[in-house]
Amino acid sequence: MRERKGLSGFSKALQNEYLMLAIAALWTAYATVLYGVLRESHSYRPEMLLGGVVVAAVLFLLGWAHPALYLVGAFLVGLLNGIYAHTAHYWHIGDLPVRVETALDSSGGEMSEFFDQFVVHSKFAWVLIAYVLIALALGAWVWYLHHKHGQQTPPHPWRRLGKGLAAAVVVGGLGYWVVASSYPALALGVTSVQVYTRVNPVLKRKENVAAFMAHAGPLHCTAAFDKIVYVQGESANRDYMHAYGYDLPTTPFLDGLKNKVQIRAISPANQTMTSIPILLTPATVENYDAFYTSPSIISDLRRCGYQTFWLSNQLRYSPYTDTVSSIAAEADVVRFVLEVLKPSTTPPDGALLQLFSPDEIVPGKKQAFFFHLMGSHYEWSRRYPPDQALIPHPKNRIEEYVNTIYYTDHILSQLFEIFQARGENVLFIYTSDHGEWMTATAGGHADAHPYQEEYRVPLVFWATHPEVLRPIAEATQGRIVNTETLDLQIRFLLGLEDNPGISYSYKVLSLGPGRVIDYRDLPYLNHQETH
Ligand SMILES: [Zn+2]
Repeated sequence: MRERKGLSGFSKALQNEYLMLAIAALWTAYATVLYGVLRESHSYRPEMLLGGVVVAAVLFLLGWAHPALYLVGAFLVGLLNGIYAHTAHYWHIGDLPVRVETALDSSGGEMSEFFDQFVVHSKFAWVLIAYVLIALALGAWVWYLHHKHGQQTPPHPWRRLGKGLAAAVVVGGLGYWVVASSYPALALGVTSVQVYTRVNPVLKRKENVAAFMAHAGPLHCTAAFDKIVYVQGESANRDYMHAYGYDLPTTPFLDGLKNKVQIRAISPANQTMTSIPILLTPATVENYDAFYTSPSIISDLRRCGYQTFWLSNQLRYSPYTDTVSSIAAEADVVRFVLEVLKPSTTPPDGALLQLFSPDEIVPGKKQAFFFHLMGSHYEWSRRYPPDQALIPHPKNRIEEYVNTIYYTDHILSQLFEIFQARGENVLFIYTSDHGEWMTATAGGHADAHPYQEEYRVPLVFWATHPEVLRPIAEATQGRIVNTETLDLQIRFLLGLEDNPGISYSYKVLSLGPGRVIDYRDLPYLNHQETH
């Protein structure tokens, strides 16, 4: 008898439109936020629970006005909460505007790989999708009940719609102002709109550079290089390079490269879009804004009479936010593998060799080539042809990563040979935009609370006449060097600076401008570097 009573109580509850609406609103407002506050405290704060009261109340009022309005609201709140929870889970939120910029910068090929790794193959993502579907299913049930009880609805449904909407706006507006601005879905939604609609500093930079170059005269470069080859690596952590002491023979080319200057470097930031501007323009860790007002080393080279090439196996990101495209655009010739060769997805970096013909490398002519590799970016197993793996059947993520390092060394050797054969006086530079932390099951960079490994990069100089590199070799001997002033080292080698301007600073950026931290204070996975 008791059970039966319980059951009928349950089924009665199921038939109660407003009770079900309240449950739906609470589920949508709280499921991810409660989990976040309990388990992901790096990205959630307890006051978000208070914001949840406002969100639940607004959803309830919308549903009271009409269940369809609840569905719209629940979809938006659920989607934004889900994206926030997903980002918090994998990377931590850190600085929300910087996070949103990073997301807006992703597109095309990388997006499909991202989707594959972090959605299709992520249990966590599927749980979040279920969360949104449950929020919608509860709303659909409320709508069904609403329809079923339709005969009892008041004679003026429009009046009710107006009242409900007005109450939702008042409660939502006041609540947002008082407690709910940090609530995940609202903070994410408002920040996204702000990032989209603000005056875009990267587009503004393009105007600044064009205006500057229109009046800039030629520069007098005393250096006699006829070929400058700059290889911009991606996610390469020197801990996994044999040339830097790793056990496996991952860098046969660099190992055998005579007279190179090899430096124990750290990158100024742990993500591409922040790091490359600092490497290639006068911007530094503590003065990132210089990027927005200054041309890069590419424009300097043009003023020195070099024909400049930017050849990339990365994406031409959205011109709206992307900093790297902004620098690439300064070159005379800009080509992207994805646009020229039109592969369905980013191929291994060997494709870069098809982006130019050997005839374009003219002996004796001043030319500078910038190669932007995909290097060791996830998904690691896609970065090298299987038949060119050091470890043919990688058993874990680290072995896949090791294969990417080995393949990059092979690409370096190929580029080196091509330019060696056609150049008379060559300058060759290789570095990475940032490192990567790796474990047997996962790896990454761009974390809001980074590891030291996200900053450990190779930096290698080689020149046909090695004596030109001596001042750099002497100034760097064994020391940790921050690549934040790499542009100055290049300018020095060109004869535009009196000294190489090496930076020994341990200050680096976590993700974006302003978030200055000390490399020595960061946590680490395998070993610590303090000097
Ligand atoms: Zn990168």
